[in-house]
Amino acid sequence: MKELLKKLVEADSISGYEDNIRNIIHKEIKPHVNDVKIDKVGNLIARKGNGSPKIMLAAHMDTIGLIVKYISKEGFISFEKIGGWDERILPTLKVKIHGEKGSVFGVIGSKPPHIQEKDEGKKPFKMKELFIDVGASNEDDVKKAGIGIGDFITVHGTLENLIGSKVTGQGFDNRIGCLSLIEIAKSLKKFKGTVYLVGTVKEEIGLIGVRGSAFSINPDAMLAIDTGIAGDVPGINETEVPIKMSDGPALDIKDAMSVIHPQVKKWVKETAEKNKIKLQFDVMSGGATDASVASIIREGIPSGALTVPVRYIHTPVEVADIKTIEDCVKLGVKLVESAGKYF
Ligand SMILES: [Zn+2]
Repeated sequence: MKELLKKLVEADSISGYEDNIRNIIHKEIKPHVNDVKIDKVGNLIARKGNGSPKIMLAAHMDTIGLIVKYISKEGFISFEKIGGWDERILPTLKVKIHGEKGSVFGVIGSKPPHIQEKDEGKKPFKMKELFIDVGASNEDDVKKAGIGIGDFITVHGTLENLIGSKVTGQGFDNRIGCLSLIEIAKSLKKFKGTVYLVGTVKEEIGLIGVRGSAFSINPDAMLAIDTGIAGDVPGINETEVPIKMSDGPALDIKDAMSVIHPQVKKWVKETAEKNKIKLQFDVMSGGATDASVASIIREGIPSGALTVPVRYIHTPVEVADIKTIEDCVKLGVKLVESAGKYF
């Protein structure tokens, strides 16, 4: 499982450029399902089984990133954000720009402390002050490397082991969901009905891909498999985020856009209890998942989101517990097996 997570973490992906993650899911999932298709906007839709109920499990394949906005005469690159970034963490990131001649490494430069003016270091950088240095001497060098306006920029990172079953890496949101989809497909043997395992596009910029895929599949129930916020770190109040990284997957009860469908809640809660899988309940004021919009597709699809709690989400140093991912996969399999009793 860790090997596959490493492969996914190292595959570049951003909203609108999910090809690498999609290719990995396609290759891994194909031998374990009836068929796989890619729809017009790039969602991957794998089908396993036949008849009812029809259950859709969806994991978004994109990650937050950046995009080339302007190239200066001196060869420095200005950029725009794609998705929800904390701008304070952008300086000193290592990035990859995906131009027409392949990817080019770059760094987001910042002024060394030695030459900062008094109190300058205490203030966060403004986006417009930041730039990417690809080692070019001028604008021509950048263009010769195949970089142009509108090229996608991803964060460079890999997977590292921490103590015990903990790991750190970039893009856990939502490569962990993609990994879970693959592992659920591999583990599912006998069940009643059809499961659609869907890799969605452009979730981070407005929950885009799920709209068409949920519409075309028209499932009886939909579950997003995603990552959520683990609050068990200094600086976050337990009353604000009681969800812990290693206490099992979490079921989103409420987010900024939606409230879980009662039958989906019953299905997930009872299945976790019956199979003795730890489950947390997440009540959030902000954030949303693919499930948040699935409930307004067609006449409304009963939906909910199952998440793996991740520390430092939307940073290149996300931390997660492999054991929680294993529990999420186990629960996902049991949910498909028990779906016929609920839908
Ligand atoms: Zn996500």
